[in-house]
Amino acid sequence: MAKSGSRLGAGRPAHRLKAENASALDVAYLSRHGHLDAGNWKRLYWQQYGEVQMEGLVKAFDDHITVDIGLSTHWIGLTQTPCHLGGYRRWFICPMCSNRMGMLYMRHGRFACRQCQRISYQSQSGDAEDRLIWQYHTLLHKISNKKLQPLRSRARISNKFLEVAWQYDAMLDEAMSRIVMAAATGC
Ligand SMILES: [Zn+2]
Repeated sequence: MAKSGSRLGAGRPAHRLKAENASALDVAYLSRHGHLDAGNWKRLYWQQYGEVQMEGLVKAFDDHITVDIGLSTHWIGLTQTPCHLGGYRRWFICPMCSNRMGMLYMRHGRFACRQCQRISYQSQSGDAEDRLIWQYHTLLHKISNKKLQPLRSRARISNKFLEVAWQYDAMLDEAMSRIVMAAATGC
């Protein structure tokens, strides 16, 4: 595991969430780099803040891929739609809702679409983003002051922190993926 290069001295929970959060699968990226061509076995590295957070092995078959990460294998169906100018565009089939998706996200040890993973879009408004950032730093501060709380409320605070840290990172991730998606061409 890469050493923690985390911002603001965030503790281990945040680091774990970041690693998970970094592990989005982008069908356009995989398609461009040959990861979806049947028969190919290709390594995939998830980076964040310049560090490799996780790696996997993508094995491509006709109608699905498998992604081996550590000891687990994730099975993800593929489909395609024709483009106006010929050729076709590939899609993942979300393992949970079976909808056609361009991006899947790792959370709770499985890949699924943003809706199934309950990653909300609502943090797009400036107010909501500000609130989330404030909440994140407040909880981070509480967590760092361990002596202040009895054990039971520490557990509650750290659960809350996990949830907020996830949303916080999802927000950053979404901002990044907007940039990536804008750069990606396709039909
Ligand atoms: Zn889904």
